[in-house]
Amino acid sequence: MSEATGDIGLIGLAVMGQNLILNAADHGYTVVAYNRTVSKVDHFLENEAKGKSIIGAHSIQELCANLKRPRRIILLVKAGDAVDNFINQLLPFLEKGDIIIDGGNSHFPDSNRRYEELKQKDILFVGSGVSGGEEGARYGPSIMPGGHPDAWPHIKEIFQDISAKSDGEACCDWVGEAGSGHYVKMVHNGIEYGDMQLICEAYDLLKRGAGFTNREIGEVFARWNTGVLDSFLVEITRDILLYEDVDGVSLVEKILDTAGQKGTGKWTATNALDLGMPVTLIGEAVFSRCLSAIKEERVRASATLEGPTPQFDGNKQEFVDQLEQALYASKIISYSQGFMLMREAAKEYNWNLDNAAIALMWRGGCIIRSVFLAEITKAYRENPELENLLFHPFFNQAISKAQAPWRQIVSKSTLWGIPTPAFATALSFYDGYRSARLPANLLQAQRDYFGAHTFRVLPEFVSETLPKDTNIHVNWTGRG
Ligand code: NAP
Repeated sequence: MSEATGDIGLIGLAVMGQNLILNAADHGYTVVAYNRTVSKVDHFLENEAKGKSIIGAHSIQELCANLKRPRRIILLVKAGDAVDNFINQLLPFLEKGDIIIDGGNSHFPDSNRRYEELKQKDILFVGSGVSGGEEGARYGPSIMPGGHPDAWPHIKEIFQDISAKSDGEACCDWVGEAGSGHYVKMVHNGIEYGDMQLICEAYDLLKRGAGFTNREIGEVFARWNTGVLDSFLVEITRDILLYEDVDGVSLVEKILDTAGQKGTGKWTATNALDLGMPVTLIGEAVFSRCLSAIKEERVRASATLEGPTPQFDGNKQEFVDQLEQALYASKIISYSQGFMLMREAAKEYNWNLDNAAIALMWRGGCIIRSVFLAEITKAYRENPELENLLFHPFFNQAISKAQAPWRQIVSKSTLWGIPTPAFATALSFYDGYRSARLPANLLQAQRDYFGAHTFRVLPEFVSETLPKDTNIHVNWTGRG
């Protein structure tokens, strides 16, 4: 049998798989391609892949036979059973030390399980987040691989070659053990939900609150994209708001206002609840999509539930500047919450997560790419043990500067009756986080009153009747 020449195999010839193969081929790798519906292999070879270093395989056996050892095989198929099915089909043709990489949007507990199962069989499993959609896959995605550490030296070069670059650095690094790659991708998607929600609230305030036209809002976003908010999502929002339909009407105004979701934001919010972390902005972003989805009920409510009519008589430029600061501050809170969640996950699941590397991976290629992430990379490189981004002088000063306009925006939106759950929860979190004392003392008393759940006493009030480090219960109706 002739010697295998394939550098890497890829299963799944939908949009992501095809584009990633073409990307790898452009970087000089020989890719062996396979798909469940085998006719798609020939179609791909005769069209997009023609003349490139791509080998078509018509069976799993042929795919494996064409790969150099250790075999490196990427799955880019629908998340769920399809991944397990392919792993089972591959196993009879693999050898100790071969590598299976799941590049789809798998839920991290599934990746934890696959990692453990394959470890028993001496197969190295990698769960890798890939972000950036089809464009990213074709020309440089953000890649977040985690799993069996022995796999990394064998995939590092190709992954970093095909990934996006930011200031010359690859937006791909080793995330950590087991399902941590897919975990970080999940948090990335949650943050994406938050960023999108904040932008939508800013649009709503400019439109319904301050009476801007879509063209004017598009111009505001164009300007914001040259400053601290410079990012892919602000850039595409500019384009969307400036896009007119054939009749000259802004197309976005014709779109039904019910948001879809595929579940990764919900996964992040659910995991935050599981780990007891206050990731409020992503939670609000998910709930906002849920509220948008009950359109008919909202239409009925709009006819009967009263509220204020926004009145704007201020200076438009001043309002835009306040809004920019409010958006920036809320975004800082959202990322701080995201990194808090990952810190807790690292503890809970026993992973070593490198925050600076994660911020770098998100800087290019993916949906949340932004100039702002460069500052996060810098902050964690300066101090890998940084407890919270808000303690870093850069973010501390940015929030300080933004605080007054941020409060103005949240109050205005409340008075106008325009919902801004993401702006408001960010500010509430900020005020809660900087409160040395919260009203949880009363809450503990209530819990003790009705459920004898006990409480502990503040050090300065320790006494004979209220002893130190003791769970105390009192009969709340017995006095006063
Ligand atoms: P997709 O629509 O999610 O999946 C299509 C691919 O999965 C096809 O190759 C299909 O094979 C295969 N497949 C579906 N069900 C299968 C089953 N039961 N058994 C075996 N194979 C099955 O494709 P995609 O949009 O390219 O995404 C691929 C992965 O990347 C997904 O996990 C997705 O969530 C993730 N992802 C997508 C994007 C994006 O922008 N699209 C971005 C990031 C990550 P057949 O051709 O035979 O049907």
